Amino acid sequence: MAKTEFKSESKRLLDLMINSIYTHKEIFLREIISNASDAIDKLYYISLTDQNVGLNKDDFKIHIEIDKPNRIITVSDNGIGMDKDDLDNNLGTIANSGSFKFKQENEKNDDVDIIGQFGVGFYSAFMVASEITVETKKYNCPTAYRWNSSGVDGYEITEIEKDTVGTKIILKIKEDTENEKYSEYLEKYKISALVTKYSDYIRYPIIMEMEHRKLREDCDLEHPEYDEVKEDEVLNSMVPIWQRSKKDVTDDEYNEFYKQKFFDFENPAKVFSNSVEGIVTFKSLLYIPSKVPFDYYTKEYKKGLQLYSSGVLIMDKCPDLLPEHFAFVKGVVDSQDLSLNISREMLQHDRQLKNIAGTLEKKIKNELASWLKNDREAYEKFYANFGRQLKYGLVADYGAHKDVVKDLVLFYSSTEKKLVTLKEYTERMAEDQKEIYFATGESIENIDKLPQTEYFRDKNKEILYCPEEIDEFAFQSMGDYNDKKFKNIVNEDIEEEAQPNDENKNDDSTLKFIKDILGDKVQEVVFSKKLKSHPVCLTAKGGVSFEMEKYMSMAQPEARVKAERVLEINASHPAVNALIANITADKDKAEKYAKLLYSQAVIIAGLQLEDPSEYADLVCSLMN
Ligand code: ADP
Repeated sequence: MAKTEFKSESKRLLDLMINSIYTHKEIFLREIISNASDAIDKLYYISLTDQNVGLNKDDFKIHIEIDKPNRIITVSDNGIGMDKDDLDNNLGTIANSGSFKFKQENEKNDDVDIIGQFGVGFYSAFMVASEITVETKKYNCPTAYRWNSSGVDGYEITEIEKDTVGTKIILKIKEDTENEKYSEYLEKYKISALVTKYSDYIRYPIIMEMEHRKLREDCDLEHPEYDEVKEDEVLNSMVPIWQRSKKDVTDDEYNEFYKQKFFDFENPAKVFSNSVEGIVTFKSLLYIPSKVPFDYYTKEYKKGLQLYSSGVLIMDKCPDLLPEHFAFVKGVVDSQDLSLNISREMLQHDRQLKNIAGTLEKKIKNELASWLKNDREAYEKFYANFGRQLKYGLVADYGAHKDVVKDLVLFYSSTEKKLVTLKEYTERMAEDQKEIYFATGESIENIDKLPQTEYFRDKNKEILYCPEEIDEFAFQSMGDYNDKKFKNIVNEDIEEEAQPNDENKNDDSTLKFIKDILGDKVQEVVFSKKLKSHPVCLTAKGGVSFEMEKYMSMAQPEARVKAERVLEINASHPAVNALIANITADKDKAEKYAKLLYSQAVIIAGLQLEDPSEYADLVCSLMN
């Protein structure tokens, strides 16, 4: 009998499929099973009004059989079945060429993993099978057919004898090669694991005969005896945990599900489930881990939620469902409004996904906000793990998401000596304070000792200590919080009138003297308005802070981003007075004092001395 050729597009996709070194080969089973489930759905629907079907809901089943010696997997269903036209139209061509077009358009982009994301249905079986046979009988059709194909050169359809309505998909599994192993698909434990992984929540039982040891009845329990028995086992649990009503699921069940599904040893820090009905209807079950995944702050970490369509896993990690700032969230989304087949209007998919993602972002935000409000301690633990990620949300996309995260971030307060929110800070602000003060530095302890923070502490003004690089970027991209601007007090001048130190401060010649000695090392030397007990400090002018300089020199050394250094001197400090006195009395000594004070300022600012040994010599020469 002459072979019928596949339609040309199908042929090319088949070629792609057969020769793909595609890593997710295992999804073939998911595709075959969900086709079976769809077919059962159709016949079940008919059976509701048509007595002749003769089947009740409980009669619908999917069977898997494995014939290891002959390398055959058979998946049978008692669904609607196919007639000759169906076989020609459905298995002879790709139902809708959309998926293929999508693949072609994105061929250059390896990231677009269309097969893994949405599957290409039946054809994916050619990734693992060298030959596929379909035996099928359609409901209300007198004839049954066999469809057979070994790949690109086409397929044959013949009439066969088959009593029962439904479809049998018979896969002849490929032989192993050096690089590709297929034999594992002939292992029952593997197939059973794949069903649990991808098709656990298919609403009809997926049955396979399993062998296990069974305790022999009436045997002496001191010397137990076992029989090897074969029993049909249902592989799937059929009801997803997220479909059950919250009150029927125990904390333990939620936690166990999390640990199994997301490979964590510890219970999650937070569980929340949602049922949303609207433009897109979906259910979600989300978790926040209690520990930072080991690869979290690396490129290896892939964010995303498991995406199901009516209980069938479409995608293991759908990144589009989570914004970057909530990348730590794990969980499951299930929507009946998503179709399994990407070919059905890609755009529509996109819109639905965006809608779900938008709703989820709001849900997560609200959940975190109420956590912060109601259990501060637990929230702070979470924050220690993932706070950096939230702050990332303030910076990303030029601050486009700041409203989502601004009330979820915490900073260490100089007066409260603990983490506070920006809201708490601004609510405490004195009426005459116009700006939110923050100070950047190496660590909380370090910032606390900066000469620049002393003045504010003495005046009992609250400062947010920012030891993380991202903090300063975060404030910059936020611009303000509830109309209060941010001010880095390490760098910027304070608005308050200068403390009248003494007459020295009008003496420009002192400043000029020091500037001449330091040369290019500093942009400027000024009398400080904020120094109290310290003689000098170094501040940065022109928008680039020292923390940014440090960060940029690591992240982008070639950009050579440098902070403009300003040396502030405290005109009423004895050390500075000694310097000033020596400008006329002993110029050589005055020069050494100037260099020494500058070096101290550099060290306190947490920067590297240009020449440490010169500094050491300087100290020694002054001790002599
Ligand atoms: P999709 O299921 O996404 O439409 P597939 O390539 O997986 O694409 O399947 C093509 C078509 O073949 C299905 O839409 C269905 O009409 C038919 N089909 C596949 N498997 C079965 C089955 N087990 N029973 C009945 N029809 C089937």
